[in-house]
Amino acid sequence: MYYIGIDVGGTNLVSGLVNEKGRILDKVSHPVDKAMTAEELCVELARLAKKVCEMGALDYSQIEAVGVGLPGVVDNGTGMVVQTPNMAFSNTPFRTLFQKEWNVPVFLANDANCAAVGEYWAGAAKGCDPAVVVTLGTGIGGGLVVGGKLFTGFANSGMEVGHMIIQPNGVLCGCGNRGCWEQYGSATALIRLTQLEMERTKDSVLWDLCEGDRFKVQGRTAFQGARLDDPAAKRVLHTYLQGLSIGIINLINILQPEIICLGGGISNAEDDLLLEPLRDLVLQGTFDKSRPTRLEKASLGNDAGVVGAALLCHMV
Ligand SMILES: [Zn+2]
Repeated sequence: MYYIGIDVGGTNLVSGLVNEKGRILDKVSHPVDKAMTAEELCVELARLAKKVCEMGALDYSQIEAVGVGLPGVVDNGTGMVVQTPNMAFSNTPFRTLFQKEWNVPVFLANDANCAAVGEYWAGAAKGCDPAVVVTLGTGIGGGLVVGGKLFTGFANSGMEVGHMIIQPNGVLCGCGNRGCWEQYGSATALIRLTQLEMERTKDSVLWDLCEGDRFKVQGRTAFQGARLDDPAAKRVLHTYLQGLSIGIINLINILQPEIICLGGGISNAEDDLLLEPLRDLVLQGTFDKSRPTRLEKASLGNDAGVVGAALLCHMV
C-alpha cells in the first residue's frame, strides 16, 4: 500500500511517497509562495502529490490516501484549515479544494501532530503508547498518540503544548498570553537567553562563536560555548533546561506517557549537554518516579512530517 504525505513548511512544500512501513520511497520539494491563495496552494500540492506518484511509477489509483500537514489550526473532522501562519488565507475548506484537483481520500493535521504520527509509526516512539512528540523550533509543537490514535480534542485541532503557561506574568507570547512554555523552551527562547547572557558577559566565548554579532546567534551557539567550557554558555543552558523541563514534567504528570520524543533542531545537541541533564531535571519533578517516562530524541528528523502526514489515515 502506498500513501502520499505533504508537509507545508515555512519555506518549502515537501511531498513524499510513503509505504505502509513509513519509509519514504520518493520525495520532491518546491519553495512556498506565501502570497498564494488557498486554491493556488491546493493546485500546487496536488501537482506535487501526483509528481511523486509518477516518480514511483505508480498509477494514481494505487494511492490509498493523501495527508497534508500544516502549521496552525487544522480540523480534519470538517476538512478545514482554520488558520495557518505564513499564509494569507483562513477558514478554508482545504480538503474540498484539494479534491477538486485530485479526488482521493485526503487527511489534514497540524504539522506537530504529523510529526507525532511519523515518530509513532516509524521512528523513536514506535510501539510506545501513549506517546508524546515535542518539536522545539520557532515555537514548541506537540502531538499525542493514545490507544493507537492521534488525540486532537473535540474540535480536532489539539494539542497546543507550546502555549501551556509555566510562569505567571512571564514573557509575553505571540498568542497574547504571558509565560507560555515556548517562550522558555523553544529554539527562539534559547537564542534570546543566549543574547541576554552575552550582553551581561562581554568576555564570553559566545561572542567569538557568532563573530561579534548577536544577530548571528543560533540555537546551537550556547551548546557550542558549553562544549568549550564557557561559564556564560553553561548558565544559559542551565536556565534553558529548567524552562524546558517544566513543560515536560507537566506533560508527564498529566498524561503519564510511555515516551516523550524531542524533535526540532535543538534535539541535535549532544546528549551530555541536553538529554542527560534534562532527564535528571524531569525525574526530579515527576510525581510517580517508580516507572519513569522515557525521554528520547526523535529519530526521523525533517522526514517525520511527511511520513506522519502520509499515514494520518490510520491514526484519526
Ligand atoms: Zn502562547
